[in-house]
Amino acid sequence: MNDAIPPDFVAPHRLILSRAALIANYRWLQAQAPGAACGAAVKADGYGLGAAEVVRILADAGCRDFFVASWAEAAAIAHLVPPVSISVLHGLRDADVAVARALAQVARPVLNTPVQVACWLGAGGDACDVMVDTGINRLGLSIDDLPLLDGLNITTCLSHLASADADVPQNAQQLARFQAVRSRVAATRFSLANSAGICLGADYHFDLIRPGLALYGGVPRGEATTHIHQVAFPEAQILQIRTVAAGEGVGYNATWVAERPTRIATIQLGYADGYLRGFSGTGQALTLDGVAIPVIGRVSMDLVTLALPDESELVEGDWLRIDFDLARAATQSGLSPYELLTSLGGRYQRFWAD
Ligand SMILES: *Cc1c(COP(=O)(O)O)cnc(C)c1O
Repeated sequence: MNDAIPPDFVAPHRLILSRAALIANYRWLQAQAPGAACGAAVKADGYGLGAAEVVRILADAGCRDFFVASWAEAAAIAHLVPPVSISVLHGLRDADVAVARALAQVARPVLNTPVQVACWLGAGGDACDVMVDTGINRLGLSIDDLPLLDGLNITTCLSHLASADADVPQNAQQLARFQAVRSRVAATRFSLANSAGICLGADYHFDLIRPGLALYGGVPRGEATTHIHQVAFPEAQILQIRTVAAGEGVGYNATWVAERPTRIATIQLGYADGYLRGFSGTGQALTLDGVAIPVIGRVSMDLVTLALPDESELVEGDWLRIDFDLARAATQSGLSPYELLTSLGGRYQRFWAD
């Protein structure tokens, strides 16, 4: 950190993160699949919350299997807790072999293509994971490629569900294909379910479940509604309060015009913090007493404007909590809960509470 910034410096916006909620979500997911181990997808910097602290907390809670997208993400958490296992979902390119060797004690590639299988064998590869595509048609070996796996030392054989958040025949179809894969592939463990897949029931759990979204407060399916708790709470300090006269516009292009004299609070938060333009005129903040304060005008890069209630006693420097209930924020913004979390960005001071 920059020497000019004292250690107790308070930034004008912060992300309060609930350790208790993260652990409770982990335990609920684990309890849905008592016969399986519960891992955690921590790609995209722990879905925007900060992968290092997420890994520490979940490892303390008993999690041993972490999933990242890339080797850079694996390297960022590899030193944290030695007994964990990290699976690198995007597998192995030639350019990854050196880092894969360096991290071999803790990380395995998830091999996705015949070329990746050959690359791993050529590199003298030992333990690995494999991803078999059972119908998402995105990344993974085809069922026809399975004979190529003979001779590999496979720890976990994975597949990924395309539509587990919906009640569609594709779920049962992918399950049947994965069961067929299981009868043909020699692997220590089999793993199919992401957050939504966990809610589809025991048939989908196999040996290892891999939630991401639900750990971080996203409700993947109706079954989880009352059990998953919000983890990330953005807060911002009021930088200025002004009264605008009737007929005055607020913000870029004056998309909001005061119908009567209105007190406007401006906070440091914007689309560069993942509070995207979709919240313009739809988002809201909450006072510490829970009073809703609507976002008005256009969200800009670093600033958001809110219309204060007439009776509000808020002053410059007071803190507001942004309403970031993921289901509600998704409806307000038109973004998915995944996009809301992973867009949060690096500008917040992050504090893990309780
Ligand atoms: C991201 C990811 C997960 C976690 O998915 P959620 O929907 O966030 O629970 C699990 N498996 C794979 C292969 C993934 O890419």
